[in-house]
This record gives sequence, structure tokens and C-alpha cells, in this order.
Amino acid sequence: MDKTMKKLTLLSVAIAVALAGCSGDDGKDGTNGSAGANGANGANGSNGLTSLIMQTQLPIGDDVCRNGGVKIDSGLDSDGNGVLAASEVTGTEHVCAPTITSLTASDVATTTSNQWYSESEDRVLQAKAMAAKIAKESGKAKNVILFVGDGMGISTVTAARILEGQNKGMMGEENQLSFEKLPFSGFSKTYNVDAQTPDSAGTMTAMIAGVKTDMGVIGVAEGVTRGNCISTKGQELVTAAELAELAGKSTGIVSTARITHATPASAYAKSADRDWEDVSDMPANEAANCEDIASQLVNFEKNLEARFPGVDVDGLDVVMGGGRRHFLPKDIAFNSTDAMSTVEGDRTDGRDLTAEWKAQYPAGQYVMDQAGFNAINPAATSKVFGLFNESHMQYETDRKNDIAGEPSLSEMTAKAIDILDNNEKGFFLTVEAGRIDHGHHAGNAYAALNDTVEFAKAVQAAVDATDSDDTLIIVTADHSHVFTIAGYPKRGNPILGKVVGIGSDTPSLADDGMPYTTVGYTNGIGYKNLGSQTDADQGYNHPIVTGRVDLTDVDTQAPGFFQEALVPLSSETHAGEDVGIYASGPGAHLVTGTNEQSYIFHVMDYAADLVKNAEKAVK
Ligand SMILES: [Zn+2]
Repeated sequence: MDKTMKKLTLLSVAIAVALAGCSGDDGKDGTNGSAGANGANGANGSNGLTSLIMQTQLPIGDDVCRNGGVKIDSGLDSDGNGVLAASEVTGTEHVCAPTITSLTASDVATTTSNQWYSESEDRVLQAKAMAAKIAKESGKAKNVILFVGDGMGISTVTAARILEGQNKGMMGEENQLSFEKLPFSGFSKTYNVDAQTPDSAGTMTAMIAGVKTDMGVIGVAEGVTRGNCISTKGQELVTAAELAELAGKSTGIVSTARITHATPASAYAKSADRDWEDVSDMPANEAANCEDIASQLVNFEKNLEARFPGVDVDGLDVVMGGGRRHFLPKDIAFNSTDAMSTVEGDRTDGRDLTAEWKAQYPAGQYVMDQAGFNAINPAATSKVFGLFNESHMQYETDRKNDIAGEPSLSEMTAKAIDILDNNEKGFFLTVEAGRIDHGHHAGNAYAALNDTVEFAKAVQAAVDATDSDDTLIIVTADHSHVFTIAGYPKRGNPILGKVVGIGSDTPSLADDGMPYTTVGYTNGIGYKNLGSQTDADQGYNHPIVTGRVDLTDVDTQAPGFFQEALVPLSSETHAGEDVGIYASGPGAHLVTGTNEQSYIFHVMDYAADLVKNAEKAVK
């Protein structure tokens, strides 16, 4: 705006200069006659003609001066009437106003004082500052944290943003989840090599090993045949967690799902089938040749050293999640105080993997409830194995109902970082919010969105506990869900409520005369009204109801409300559209544009030189 003022001032100077020549000089006196012999003096000469300059202000859009300006005519006022007639003009000049590229402050005062305008303007400045910081970031990340919101598609992010905002007393739409404040973002194409709409096994393998693969397989390339153990030979990939381990960094895996579930398993296991969580899940002929996923977790150190002979690694340092049943023998004697089933363990080979882990890491701490978790002193602990549930951990809103108590995702994230950052070589940590996916599969947006809000809290905990100068944080999803935000609800309308239009206080009615909710699902188990029920999985105990239901007297914001679905399926499905990637720290600027999902690994590798540093150790 200052610039514009200067341009206008320059224009005024030009006019002032033109005006200086405006009035004509009088003609010179005539010369006296030469002295005659006593002759009379000669008569004085007459005045000369008056010269005139006239200026005319030109409007914007003038033929000569497109942006307006001044036309300056000069000539002699022959008839002495004080103005220049067209016939008296002997010269014309134009002083055009410069092209207007910005507006004056007064012109845009109402715009610039607008909150949307100034906030976005600040965002541009931040982006510029960030871009200036980026020169050469290769290898600058000492720590890498990969956050995965399982099933957290764009519509889930938007709805969770609104829900979190409304929980804070805002209208909601203007809210930002923690990871939406990270300076860089892009898109990830999530399809598997053999599937348009993917699953978590193929997608997490892509993100953590840099190679897209088939649906349902863990840590192996597309040459594998799902369910065929021998076919994994030669297809085993090296993951970011393994590279970090080889490079001497601390390593951690945290999830609210079973720790043997597809997403966390992709960090440490190689399996022809994601369902081989323990030996009892495998066909006998396959179990004879391949190791189940739980066993691979406990044998991670041994297996990695066998794969790269001569290297000495210290194993995973922090493992926290659910899935205790895959680590315990199928024997009631091994039940923990937190058991939900009559016999908690599933293993049919008699092995107690928690005992094997304790034998391997005598200084480590095995914990299974909130009290054990709280007792961990991060400064004095280098190895933690936390299995907080028989199966998946609770939904965040159902966590209070856990039998022995269990930590939240943000608590686990903060403690994991506190332990991992004791290593001066840095750490690699992956954190999964596994139950966003499960809430959606059950068709219960309340659970899915509240777990997304907790996931955002976990990211904030990591931002608070690390330094963006040496820590790359990437936040993304493995895939989306068929979850929509629909209708024309007014601003600030409860995101889990019925659609209420602008200017109205009563729900809009569809063509069938019934109200409808803003969020919903294309397929799944459909409508249920379980009131205050906070365990979304209870929905599966009720019949599938698809199509429309009269919601007039139903509280759609209650935890136990399950949204309507169109296509009846025993479980709502994933969706195939792209998901977001959000990033901060060294290398984060590479997160831009639309990318194959496997690209995420390569950003982490560039930022932390994972391959290069691991190679040094292997040689
Ligand atoms: Zn899923």
C-alpha cells in the first residue's frame, strides 16, 4: 500500500512540472528608434501573443492512458480569449498514471481488517519464512516420527476439526487440529498394487518400507502370494524402523490397535498374511515354515541380526499397544487381571512371549495397565513392553471402562518420546491411532471422530516434546473411509447433529419428510440407537439396518448413535480417494503435491539418511 501512495505522489509531481509553464510571457518592448535630428521618439512596440498550456484530467479507460492520467496541450492564444481552441493547440503530451497493481489502504481497509484476510496473510508470511529456512536438509533429522491415523480420510479430518472446535465452544469450522498447523502438506495415493481401495497392510508397508505392495501382506513386496509362507522368500523389505535400529537409533512402535495388527506389524514383521497374528491363526503347514507376527515382534533383535550377519542391535525400545492374547498361551493360568475372555491367551504352542521378552531384556519393563504405565520412569528406562488390552485398546471415549485401566494415545506418545530421546543418536517412532478405522467400520462416527481428536492430541504432545530443528514429524492416514459430510447445515451446526439450514432452528426435511444427519456412510451396518453406549463394537451385535429411518425423536449426537448407511454390509468399508500428509521439521518441505504413498518413506530417508547410516553399520 505504501508503494501505491508513492506512485500517486509521482503523478502529482509530473502535473506540477507541467503547470510551471502555464502562463505566457508578455511580449518584449520595442526598440527605441535611433536618435534623429530632433526627431520624435519612436512608439513603444505592442505586447507579444500570450502562449498557453492547458491540462485535462483523463479517466481510467482513456484511449491513450488506460489507467487515467493527464493530457497537456500547449499553443498560442491567437485570439487572446484566455483558452486554447483546438486550432490553437500546437503540441500535446500525456502523463499517464502507472499500472495499478495494488490498492490503497483506504480502498481495502474493510478487507484487510477482516480476520480471514489477515490470518491467511500471516500464513503466507510463515510459509515464506519456512521456505527460506530450507536450504539443504538431507540428513538433518536426528529423530523421525511417523503418525498414522488409521482410516483418517479428509472427511474424517474435517469432521473431527469441527467436533474438536465445538467441544471448545467454537462454531467449529474455523478450528485447526494440531497437525493441520504443521507447515507442509500434500496428498498420498493409497491404492495397493492389486487393489483400487487398499487395506492397512499394503499401505503401511508402502509408507514404512518405500515399496507399494499387495493388499493383506506385511513387509514384503508384490511378488508374494497372500497366504503362502514360502512366497515371502526374497520379497522381504527393509523398513524405516529396521534401518533406524541398524543405525543405532532408538526405535518405538505405539498403537491403540493390537500391536500385531496390520499397521504396527508392518514396521517389524514379514508375513504373507496380515491375519497370522499368532501361531493359532496360521494353517499348520504354513506355521511350520514361517514365524507368526507376535513371535517376530519379540524376536525382532535376533531376526535382524540374523539377516545382517555381523551387526549388533539392541532391539525395539518402546512397544505399546493392545493384543495381549497373541503373546500368551491358551491357558487360563496365564490370564491377566485385565482379561475379558475366559481364557485370555490364544497361542497354541504353549509359548509365553511376555516371559520370553522379559528374559531377553531383564532391565526392561513389561506393563499391562495404567498403574504400571504411570510407574515407568522415562529417565531411568530404556526398554518398555506395554500390552494394555487382550485385543485392541478401548475407544478413547470408552477408555474409562477398561478393566485394569489403560493410557491414552497422547500419554503413550509423550512417554515413548521421553524414553526414546535418551539416545544421542536419535530415534524412530511410529504411532498409530488404530481405532479411528474401527469406529468407522462399525458405522459409529462418534467413536471415529473422538479417536481422531485424541490422535491430534498425540501429535501435539510430540510437537511439544521435540524440536522442529532436528525432528521430522509426518502425520498421515493409510486410507480413507466411505464417510461423508452432506446437506447444507448452517455454520456451527453440531457436526453429529441433524442438518439445520441457514436461518432455521428446526431440522431440514428430506423428500421423504424425515430429518437427516450431516455425517453418514455409504455402506455398513447402518442405523442403531444404543444411547449412551461408548463401545462402538457393540453395534455388530445388532441387525444390519440400511436405508432411511425416522430420526425425529433420536439424539444423533449420543455416543451410541450409528449413522444411516445405504448398502448393507457386515462392516463399513475403506474408501479409495487420496489422504492428506502433514509434516514439520527437516525434509518436511518435500511433502507437497500428490504422491504415491511409498514416497513417505523416501522423505523420511532423505531427512534422516536412514539407508546411508544403516549401510555404515552393516559394512
Ligand atoms: Zn480398516
